[in-house]
Amino acid sequence: MPTRHGCVANSTSVISILHGHLWRLPIARYPQRHGSAAKLADQPPDLLVDRLWLVEIEFRSDITVELVRANASDADVVFAARVSTVGEQSLEDVDADPQRSSGLINYLMRDRHGSPFEHNSMTFFVKAPIFVWREHMRHRIASYNEESGRYRELLPVFYVPGHDRPLIQSGKPGAYEFHPGTAEQYDLVDSAIKDSCTSAYAAYMNMLEAGVAREVARMVLPVTIFSSAYVTMNARSLMNFLSLRRKVEGSHFPSYPQREIEMVAEVYEDHFARLMPITHATFIANGRVAP
Ligand SMILES: Cc1cc2nc3c(=O)[nH]c(=O)nc-3n(C[C@H](O)[C@H](O)[C@H](O)COP(=O)(O)OP(=O)(O)OC[C@H]3O[C@@H](n4cnc5c(N)ncnc54)[C@H](O)[C@@H]3O)c2cc1C
Repeated sequence: MPTRHGCVANSTSVISILHGHLWRLPIARYPQRHGSAAKLADQPPDLLVDRLWLVEIEFRSDITVELVRANASDADVVFAARVSTVGEQSLEDVDADPQRSSGLINYLMRDRHGSPFEHNSMTFFVKAPIFVWREHMRHRIASYNEESGRYRELLPVFYVPGHDRPLIQSGKPGAYEFHPGTAEQYDLVDSAIKDSCTSAYAAYMNMLEAGVAREVARMVLPVTIFSSAYVTMNARSLMNFLSLRRKVEGSHFPSYPQREIEMVAEVYEDHFARLMPITHATFIANGRVAP
């Protein structure tokens, strides 16, 4: 966890971040605490470090997705659909004939009778960079509650692409293909993102320390910063999300999503497949078209 310390910590990561900050953090802070920036240069290094707030900046190449609650099963689809023909008995009818249930779900999926797939819910806790949330929240048929950058200080956790993340695009807009970068390109991406995030977070902290409101100070933070939210979807809206946010061979309508939102979709789909195996299998068998 990122921490703020009043003195030098032994942790390597804290020390290395301190090096990155030495040239900028004290100059902004010293005048507040001691009245003169000029005096700072006269301080021996030990004393200088001792007076700093050290900020441990965390860089992550993964995204957190956890299923926190689910009320979702294939039976939920079947009882909702059968109400058309057998009324309230449909609830008792659910497990009577699994094969027939599977056929019914396939029919509903294939002919795009979507509403029976809405009587269920899956709630996820997701920690993702802001640039992923911008794409995610375009999916309006979902419920969201996100942490507030107005009511709490945002933690210094930033996304940096891992070296397994393709860097180079080719092809045309709407259907880009991605390929690995060179070692130099990976190093450049790594250092450019880390330097700019570190600098931005230092500016954020300086503004907070100067008494500026969180909602104003956060304006300096980049879209790589992580934010967390609960997301609740039903199987119908989730299938729509999965059809658009994963690139999968055999999809009737191929999609070319950004890799990072696809990482979220992959975990969603694993949970969906486990909770609603028949529905998931028919979604795939019908070309990943959301009903
Ligand atoms: C690869 C990719 C590239 C993209 N590029 C861009 C881009 O360049 N610029 C950009 O702005 N967006 C872009 N998007 C976002 C995209 O246009 C959709 O906003 C996003 O995928 C959400 O899809 P949705 O509307 O189907 O989802 P939801 O909002 O969850 O809606 C689900 C379904 O509900 C129905 N629905 C929801 N709201 C309405 C409504 N108001 N009126 C009628 N029907 C409604 C529709 O049937 C819809 O499919 C991109 C998405 C993808 C996957």
